[in-house]
Amino acid sequence: MREPSGVEGVKPERGRRHLIVANWKMNKTRPEALAFRDTFAREAEALGGVEIAIAPPYPFLPDLESSGGAWSLAGQDCSAEARGAFTGEVSAEMLASCGCRYVILGHSERRKHFHESGALLSGKLRQARQAGLVPIFCVGETLEERREGLTREVLRRQVEATENDPPEAPIVVAYEPVWAIGTGQNATPAQAQESIADIRTLLAGRVDLRVLYGGSVTAENASSLASRKGIDGFLVGGASLDSPGFAGICRSCP
Ligand code: PEP
Repeated sequence: MREPSGVEGVKPERGRRHLIVANWKMNKTRPEALAFRDTFAREAEALGGVEIAIAPPYPFLPDLESSGGAWSLAGQDCSAEARGAFTGEVSAEMLASCGCRYVILGHSERRKHFHESGALLSGKLRQARQAGLVPIFCVGETLEERREGLTREVLRRQVEATENDPPEAPIVVAYEPVWAIGTGQNATPAQAQESIADIRTLLAGRVDLRVLYGGSVTAENASSLASRKGIDGFLVGGASLDSPGFAGICRSCP
């Protein structure tokens, strides 16, 4: 593996905390979500060193609000439309009105199962901005694309959807190699750092950019990833479902 290019000079801003985002996907019942909230609220008192966001299923958003402000809320997706006759859709404005600060867009599961295109994601980004949400924009290559040496090209193509997004607006990009999501096989710190450096180069015009890593992050592997320059935090799926495990990831960040 070659050393990542352009890593010097792309340190997270001094004083900026790592951002750790829990993506619950379509998991938990309401009682389970409430139990997580109550346990995690106790854990979170000691986790002031990182910024935390939780993306529960939509029905649990109001329940998951942190009474003490220890974490913020994120939507798992939003519609590319503002409102209207789109049964089943959730608008960015609805998420904002439920207290969300962030919205995850372009997760590989949505790209794969719901055929989300770059054009659709540009529309979702526009809606997120209009509602005042900060997008967590997911990108990442499949195993086949990586094996064929196409990773950089895939990332370039995927970030094109952010082209019309105002460069001064804060954006979070999550580098999530598809082969690492839910597989137990995380990218090595060097692999993650290399692609994240590429993303930073591609988005060099952005004024307020944070880049997260996602893919089988656990309390065991988090600190070796988080200590790498340029990795501003994590998007966590499976390991965010359990409060002590998620708190362990948060604690692993310097
Ligand atoms: C994800 O779904 O964004 C993710 C990173 O999942 P996991 O942590 O389970 O690999």
